[in-house]
Amino acid sequence: MTEDAQPNCPFCQIVAGKRPARIIYRDAQVTAFRDINPQAPTHFLVVTNRHIRSISEAQAEQAPLLGGLLLAAAELARKEGLTGYRLVINNGSEGGQTVWHLHVHVIGGRRMTWPPG
Ligand code: 5GP
Ligand code: ZN
Repeated sequence: MTEDAQPNCPFCQIVAGKRPARIIYRDAQVTAFRDINPQAPTHFLVVTNRHIRSISEAQAEQAPLLGGLLLAAAELARKEGLTGYRLVINNGSEGGQTVWHLHVHVIGGRRMTWPPG
């Protein structure tokens, strides 16, 4: 279920300019900024400007927005000079999600290993 901006959500705060972040891209649909705790030489997040709690709560009518989120991640990875990189969407506590606002991690600049932890 889509909700309105949540005052206590850190990513809603970043989208609204109310929380400092190293923003690298912004348009009407998505915002990208550097992760505060990077796991690789390049690690940034691309978030929907709207507060969607998680990918499992996204709705069919949000398909264009979700497509735009992925395309923005790939385009920004290209602009950052990444060739090989990893996109990650953690979903739910057991999936490693800690911030309840949909985001794609873009991680690169080192060799990735598999399986992930
Ligand atoms: P998750 O665990 O939900 O997939 O990812 C949340 C990510 O957000 C983590 O990598 C964490 O370092 C990052 N993060 C959490 N709070 C902030 C913040 O206030 N600013 C920034 N730039 N990143 C944050
Ligand atoms: Zn939010």
